[in-house]
Amino acid sequence: MADEWARYLRQQIELGGAEVVLRRTVGQAGGLSEEQLASSPAADTLDIQATDRLTARPPVRPSWRKGAPPIPGPGLVVESPGHGLDDTLVALDTLEAVAERIRTTYCCALCPNRINAVPGEGNANAKLFLVGEGPGATEDAQGRPFVGQAGNLLNGILEAIEVPRESVYITNIVKCRPPQNRKPLPDEIAACIPYLHRQLEIIRPKVILCLGSTSAEAMLGVRRSLGELRGRVHTYNGIPLVVTYHPAALLRNPNWKKPTWDDVRIARQLLDR
Ligand code: URA
Repeated sequence: MADEWARYLRQQIELGGAEVVLRRTVGQAGGLSEEQLASSPAADTLDIQATDRLTARPPVRPSWRKGAPPIPGPGLVVESPGHGLDDTLVALDTLEAVAERIRTTYCCALCPNRINAVPGEGNANAKLFLVGEGPGATEDAQGRPFVGQAGNLLNGILEAIEVPRESVYITNIVKCRPPQNRKPLPDEIAACIPYLHRQLEIIRPKVILCLGSTSAEAMLGVRRSLGELRGRVHTYNGIPLVVTYHPAALLRNPNWKKPTWDDVRIARQLLDR
């Protein structure tokens, strides 16, 4: 129970949640003692008000639905990927076959410098399909997407909208790490994006969530700012596509956590539709 509490409180802070009020008896009720809270990584940013109530139980966990924005109107419509998939790619009919092709092929200048290609991972029947920019150092080392700091934040966001990470599919626009984590170049994106299109064809998710402007621009085939691309439900080959901030950007600028929280709750509502 203590672990659950700590995770919940950290998550609220990560998402820019309102002040957290803890009752003095939380420890006795099976939750965290104040000493435990003081030693938790988030303690210095928590605003804790002890009260004299002795009968406290942990508050009911607020649902992601509370205060969620309505689903916004339609945005851009992308009818076809615009990148012809070659026949050998179309012949790959499982995610594992696509991943194997990625791991065994050099398709652009990023490939020779990789430790591992990062094809993507997750559920073949995923309803939610997440697209980041490109692997970072941790992802390159492990061959898995979003396993570093940004990945931890993403896990918290998914947990907050009650979508288990194991239920989604997560991948990136480019499957090999760009040097010094720079943005992938247009020719690198063009060389790699057919894999993403094939992954989407195989999974046919209910909702696509683009993390950051590189992902959104590549998927929608436009050059626009993130501000211009957020707040609409775009359509990619008939699939609703929502755009939000990249988790790494949230680590740099916490002011973007609230708009991100709104965006992901829009995506979450689309999953229920
Ligand atoms: N950033 C990304 O865009 N993708 C990852 O997999 C990790 C960090």
